[in-house]
Amino acid sequence: MSRKGGSSTLLREFPDFEETMQSLAAMERMPRGVVEECREAVALARRFNRTVARNYALELDRRMQEDPAYLPWELVEEANRWGFFTMWIPKLFGGKGWSLSSIAPFVEELASECLAITNLIGVHYFGFSILAATWNVRLIDMISREVAEGERTGKPCLVSGAVTEPEAGTDAEEVELLARARVRCQARRVEGGYVVNGRKIFISNGHLSTWHILIAYEDLERPDETMIAFAVKNGTPGFSFGRMEKKMGQKGCPASELVFEDCFIPDEYMLVAASRLEEMGLLSRAARKAERGPRELGMQLIDFVVSATRPGVGAMGAGVARGAFELALQFARETEVGGKPLVNHEWAQCLLAEMYVNAALARLSYMEANYANSMHGMARLLGFKPLYYYHRALPTSVFDRFMPAANRRDAVTTAFRLLVVAGQGEEQERVASGWASLAKVAGTDLGVRNCQLALELMGQAGLRHDRRAEKCLRDAKLLQIYEGTNQLNRLNIFKCLVAPAAPEAQVFQD
Ligand SMILES: Cc1cc2nc3c(=O)[nH]c(=O)nc-3n(C[C@H](O)[C@H](O)[C@H](O)COP(=O)(O)OP(=O)(O)OC[C@H]3O[C@@H](n4cnc5c(N)ncnc54)[C@H](O)[C@@H]3O)c2cc1C
Repeated sequence: MSRKGGSSTLLREFPDFEETMQSLAAMERMPRGVVEECREAVALARRFNRTVARNYALELDRRMQEDPAYLPWELVEEANRWGFFTMWIPKLFGGKGWSLSSIAPFVEELASECLAITNLIGVHYFGFSILAATWNVRLIDMISREVAEGERTGKPCLVSGAVTEPEAGTDAEEVELLARARVRCQARRVEGGYVVNGRKIFISNGHLSTWHILIAYEDLERPDETMIAFAVKNGTPGFSFGRMEKKMGQKGCPASELVFEDCFIPDEYMLVAASRLEEMGLLSRAARKAERGPRELGMQLIDFVVSATRPGVGAMGAGVARGAFELALQFARETEVGGKPLVNHEWAQCLLAEMYVNAALARLSYMEANYANSMHGMARLLGFKPLYYYHRALPTSVFDRFMPAANRRDAVTTAFRLLVVAGQGEEQERVASGWASLAKVAGTDLGVRNCQLALELMGQAGLRHDRRAEKCLRDAKLLQIYEGTNQLNRLNIFKCLVAPAAPEAQVFQD
């Protein structure tokens, strides 16, 4: 791969050292301020863990076990006070505008203490990323400002992302499988808007969110060509909350059912429709070349989004891998076995060394994926130096004062067209997507592995709730499932990174 990421040798064979290390190419191009922001984000998460999460995580887990319908508003309000829900919203829209590259290290740090709390905070940005990927600047602006207003007034305004349905999980999250997905959430065109019927399940933070970015389909027989996205606010007639899942782990972050019964959504809350991509100027160069047409919306709202968010899930895996390692090390230091400290037994030393390796590898994977995304994926928009410094230097009030909403819309649309639609090639999409899956699989598998090793080392003590290790394992297991199961992500790694070296291979054909 050339430093600019354009050479076609990249995907033909196992790449050489320079090509494998995304960081080598990216470091030259990334604005220096990004590293400083990563440091600040980690320090902030560490402070939050020390003062809030450490004392609260076990209590929350216990409470949710006893009363699965409990909604942890006090946690949402606390995170809101800390300003976590606007950190990665661009200043242009009233947020704090931190660099997207700093989310993953922030999330790793939070996850080293509690994955439920981490998901409750992090998944807001999954919903926000789908919203952002619709490029509906009017609604992005409106919803972002409500989130910022919620922060100022102490009334949190969160955003959920609703894709999964009772009969379509993996298939609804993978563009290649969407054509045959058994989706049931249908949007029927009527005068002045759409009527939506259907259900979404396992929606993180559903009951705690004010806005829901809903993916539906106009024709259930052709979901890949008729995808449509809406912004649905609580209180919309015909929209209600169903059950909350009683799940194995991450109990503090509710997984909700969203129910739509003849729910009328006016045109003004329709974010984007596959059938209207051409007229909205949202067909990328790669989409035209691959003749994807309306199927491009799936790429945009799912593939692009998960390419940016999967490294974050990998970082959650890295965090729990480290958290489990720290618990095990502490246990080994304070426990005597056979008349000497456990930490002096060679087998325990080997086990702790393995855990250390796992935590380090998990971190390296998501960092490389982060670099890949900042060169080839969604994050490259803000990795463009002039835009980055402009955005970082100006306070939000300047945007509000000197850039009226209409101009803001033009500015973002122009930047988007120049930097993403025009510049995004098929090869770049593959690299960002493949590395995102790699980080997700590596981080979450290593996270689960370290939790198992911690339990191995700790014996019966590891099974006790107050020791935290068993909670880590229950929480970590869920990471292997959401944002595409790890099986699905392995197939995506094959498709994006391996298959170009085996062009005869049939991908996603089963
Ligand atoms: C805690 C939690 C939070 C979540 N939060 C959200 C959220 O906020 N928003 C949202 O929209 N969704 C959310 N989800 C849903 C999540 O994205 C789905 O669970 C996931 O996509 C997998 O779908 P599924 O569970 O229906 O599994 P299925 O699709 O039924 O898969 C079952 C098994 O078959 C395998 N499989 C399926 N298809 C293939 C294939 N083609 N090839 C090979 N193997 C295959 C899978 O890997 C899995 O092992 C959440 C899930 C969990 C557990």
